Amino acid sequence: MIITCKKDAPQSEVDKIVHSFESQGLQVNIIHGANYNVFGIVGDTHVVDEKRLMSNPWVENVTRVAAPYKKVNRFFHPEDTIVDVGGIKVGGKEKIVVIGGPCSVEGLDMVCSVAEEVKAAGGCMLRGGAYKPRTSPYAFQGMGTEGILAMAEARKRTGMPIVSEIMSADKIDEFVEHVDLLQVGARNMQNFDLLKALGKINKPILLKRGLSNTIEEWLMSAEYIMAGGNENVILCERGIRTFEKYTRNTLDLSVVPIVKKKTHLPIIIDPSHATGNWELVESMSLAAIAAGADGLIVEVHPNPEEAWSDGAQSLKPKKFKEMIDKARVIANVVGRDL
Ligand code: PEP
Ligand code: MN
Repeated sequence: MIITCKKDAPQSEVDKIVHSFESQGLQVNIIHGANYNVFGIVGDTHVVDEKRLMSNPWVENVTRVAAPYKKVNRFFHPEDTIVDVGGIKVGGKEKIVVIGGPCSVEGLDMVCSVAEEVKAAGGCMLRGGAYKPRTSPYAFQGMGTEGILAMAEARKRTGMPIVSEIMSADKIDEFVEHVDLLQVGARNMQNFDLLKALGKINKPILLKRGLSNTIEEWLMSAEYIMAGGNENVILCERGIRTFEKYTRNTLDLSVVPIVKKKTHLPIIIDPSHATGNWELVESMSLAAIAAGADGLIVEVHPNPEEAWSDGAQSLKPKKFKEMIDKARVIANVVGRDL
């Protein structure tokens, strides 16, 4: 960390600043310039609050050299993290995972039959929302516990691990008991109490990028979970808000190589929420794999016109299978299996 101080700062102020770093176990190297004094702070500066430093009238500028995240940083953990979700390995250089299933669980029979089709198509995990973060309070809010139990039954029948969204920390016990991969949705990416609570369990977490969040904010949210002790985090890009209205969101595929460089965590792509349009899902899925993503999470519905949520972006099972067959070819081109 580099701190630039005004040259005319009284010695007592300089001493105060130096002391505050040294008392935190950090080393301070001072360069006396013509117009400024520059402090090079060496050590674990993650604990330093740069906003507080900037409130000092003698401090002109504060620059972080290291990223503010530590646990997610590839610099401190060069190997890829591979997250085990009920026996399915996510991350690493070999496998691509495809997760499929409805936006919302709409009943036991429905979710079990979609699960069979997802599996037959080549999917390896089932998704399905039981607690739904809907924009309107009048829209279907999800089946709740009944939906989670239906997902658990689908896992029993197909052997596929299940993914579902947790919206509040008071449901953690239910999710730990029944769900293999706990999804934190875009709207909860900065629900820090939820992230802290998820840091205390040892189930894998699928952390979606927030609607309008930067990569650094997203990685800091992953840091919250990991700082609590849960290192099983998978990142998911699901499109961000831009001025473009043709698609529901704008799929930011450049995050794949960026996240791969900055972190050791696996990253998967959700082309369904990213585009909002089933016709775009296949091409974005293929592009995601070509870009180096570790997997896909795709909405699949037997009858999208009748879906209780997100029908417009859901693939019919037949189309889902066609997409996977093409994705396998791309996976092979980039040296991976699907
Ligand atoms: C979902 O996966 O159904 C969902 C609501 O996703 P997101 O949080 O990305 O909008
Ligand atoms: Mn959805």
